[in-house]
Amino acid sequence: MVLDVVKYGDPVLRKRGAKIEAITPEITQFIADMFDTMKAARGVGLAAQQVGRALQLTVIDVRGMRDRPSLLWIDGQPAEVDAFMPLVLINPQIAPTGPRVAGPEGCLSFPEIYGDIERPAEVEVTAQNERGESFSFKAGGLLARAVQHEVDHLNGILFIDRMDSTVRADVKDEVDLLQAETKARLGRR
Ligand code: ZN
Repeated sequence: MVLDVVKYGDPVLRKRGAKIEAITPEITQFIADMFDTMKAARGVGLAAQQVGRALQLTVIDVRGMRDRPSLLWIDGQPAEVDAFMPLVLINPQIAPTGPRVAGPEGCLSFPEIYGDIERPAEVEVTAQNERGESFSFKAGGLLARAVQHEVDHLNGILFIDRMDSTVRADVKDEVDLLQAETKARLGRR
């Protein structure tokens, strides 16, 4: 089932996600709904907060992004990215590494708003999968950026918080308008 994507201005986007203690049938269904929603919105990633629930859960799929390559290492060995997708990260812990690199980012909660953001080029990740099994990997390229963007969501951090002051100023009017529209809509509910 495709869920409504929450837009900036909704307070749930600023909530830190609660840890998921058990993979219940309800969580399994929620993960399937998140994939349906991400696919319908043509997104690379979706966090639980973006469909209105503050949980430590995000889904990622970078397969559609041929022009922006991803890198993957499992147990220190290079691995095939596509075979590792789609990805469910439950209760993820990350350690960003490597030099900071700038790259363009958008967010399904900020339609039509884009900006270059500097983030560490690589990230070490440990999380649970949709069966509750622990797994680890290291990501580079677009996948590293997507993981960091989504894990930020799980902690109530948004990509506008990561923009430098010049980029943030460039999008200020659009962001302020979006926030006002969302607040007006929530007020009418
Ligand atoms: Zn986002």
